[in-house]
Amino acid sequence: VPADFSPADDCLKDKVILVTGAGDGIGRAAALAFAKRGATVILLGRTIEKLEAVYDEIEASGGPTPAIYPLHLRGACAEDYQQLAATLEQEFGKLDGLLHNASELGQRRTIAQTTPDSWNEVIQVNLTAGFLLTQALLPLLAQAEAGSIVFTSSSVGRKGRAFWGAYSVSKFGTEGLMQILADEEFDLNGTRVNSINPGATNTTMRRTAYPGENPSSNPDPADIMPVYLYLMSDASREVNGQAFNAQS
Ligand code: NDP
Repeated sequence: VPADFSPADDCLKDKVILVTGAGDGIGRAAALAFAKRGATVILLGRTIEKLEAVYDEIEASGGPTPAIYPLHLRGACAEDYQQLAATLEQEFGKLDGLLHNASELGQRRTIAQTTPDSWNEVIQVNLTAGFLLTQALLPLLAQAEAGSIVFTSSSVGRKGRAFWGAYSVSKFGTEGLMQILADEEFDLNGTRVNSINPGATNTTMRRTAYPGENPSSNPDPADIMPVYLYLMSDASREVNGQAFNAQS
């Protein structure tokens, strides 16, 4: 992120941005940060009460009225994503931003001990859902003046590490999907595609993965938002195919 980037209060005005896993953790913080800068946010996730709480928070702070789209990425099929695309087309006619954020941790085991069911579930939610959702929404992103797709990676999506199994593999795949889409879409219709590794962040997922760690030793999700705002704002219009770190 350029050192002189400072997100203006209205830097996402009139933009429509979909966030997956918007009910908790980093996705929740991103939804709140986007709405605060003027975006209409589509809150997608599996736990409706959490999405409603984020909705209420945005309304209370005077942000543009968001939308809630309940979807469990584990069981969603191509038709579910087409239905989502049709609904967004009807309601908004375009999509400016897509943040793939929802992920599952899966089993913290060696590959030797990983069950096939757990492997499939993690790959489905963390990687295949990203493919299906992106594919369904590409036409709507092309309708935006300058669409932006952001994938969420991890340090174990850039270098493998013992016990991170399917989660790590799903993040490597995510980086590959990002690079391929970046190469295909930017020249075609101006949609840019990048990834963010949030780094250790104080969320349920982090606390589950590192139960012995003092949670407050990591930043809160709200503290890592600059790169998310940068990639969704017009300041990054020419930035494509890059792997970012939210923390230095
Ligand atoms: P959390 O577990 O705190 O939040 C994940 C969100 O995604 C939750 O709202 C969860 O729903 C939702 N979600 C999970 N699975 C599904 C599903 N099958 N269908 C729909 N929604 C789902 O995780 P973080 O905020 O920590 O992680 C956000 C992203 O950042 C992930 O991609 C993660 O891999 C990545 N990341 C996080 C790091 C960290 O230190 N926190 C470090 C590196 C990467 P529900 O609220 O119902 O549980």
